[in-house]
Amino acid sequence: MSIVDTKQRMVIFGECMVELRSTQRESSVSTRDENTDNNLMAKSFAGDTYNTAVYLKRCLPSSSISYLTAIGADFLSDELLFKMGEHEINTDLVFRSSSRNLGLYMIRNDNEGERTFAYWRNQSAATQTLNIMKGTEFACDWFYLSGISIAILDDEQRATLFELISSLKAKGSKIAFDPNYRARLWSSQEDAKYWTGKAYAEADLAFPGADDHLMLFGHTNADEIFSYLADKQIEEIVMKNGAVGVHILRQQEQCIVPVERVEQVVDTTAAGDAFNGGYMAARLAGRKPVESASYGAKVAATVITYPGAIISGDAFTNHIPSL
Ligand code: ADP
Repeated sequence: MSIVDTKQRMVIFGECMVELRSTQRESSVSTRDENTDNNLMAKSFAGDTYNTAVYLKRCLPSSSISYLTAIGADFLSDELLFKMGEHEINTDLVFRSSSRNLGLYMIRNDNEGERTFAYWRNQSAATQTLNIMKGTEFACDWFYLSGISIAILDDEQRATLFELISSLKAKGSKIAFDPNYRARLWSSQEDAKYWTGKAYAEADLAFPGADDHLMLFGHTNADEIFSYLADKQIEEIVMKNGAVGVHILRQQEQCIVPVERVEQVVDTTAAGDAFNGGYMAARLAGRKPVESASYGAKVAATVITYPGAIISGDAFTNHIPSL
């Protein structure tokens, strides 16, 4: 990643969903009256690439972040658009579908502290983004996407996405990619491997996660991940591995950046997304990779000590020094 000034434009592509979270622990079989207050849910908006956009912007307010997605014409879509405005994320690449709504997921916390997720996203507007935006051209310095951004598209749109990436690269854009493997979004593991490999091959900056690579490729350590990525010509590889540390491979040099372990983890949702946002913000602000990894780790460590994907602005600024 070449050092760039903070006015550079980043376009982040993906899906933001409605998140409904139960506000109290539930037994696995609810015996309560469903009309009582016990069934209260908290509503918010989240999605891997959206989380990254929010945290990147919070870390580096002078950056220009556009979120590329499609939303519906429903009131929840309007609320999301308003929320993006609050986060100062540009909505010039948010497209509207007249026939589809936002995707939604629900999290249930049971008495043992385990979380269960249910999703309603197959028909979401974001799964049609490339179809809806057809003919729209834009330019950016960085284009960021994840494996989830690819997984929710059909094959035809995936091909269109890679044409878009080629044309952006031809105009000088750099590509950042996080594989974020979610098995349930892919029709087969082979499919996931194919498209993930294709995205890595376009990337200038990559964020492989140890868990993702174990599940998708069976890689059990950093060396296996780096040797898989060796022929992909990626300028900067930043491998996340929870509290174990961050491995960076850049210009043939490898280093490990230690991570201070959080003992009282409240909710690991969005840890990797927050890390990526913090890392890229620090790099855009001119910090070196090692310092950027420490900064990203600090952002992630803060996020996992609060519930939900997007923590409050106050909680964030209390812990994270701006760049
Ligand atoms: P993902 O969420 O993508 O699976 P990880 O689990 O590796 O990725 O977490 C992403 C980042 O979050 C890590 O690089 C680390 O900085 C931070 N992190 C995760 N778990 C912990 C923990 N227990 N203590 C401190 N930091 C953590």
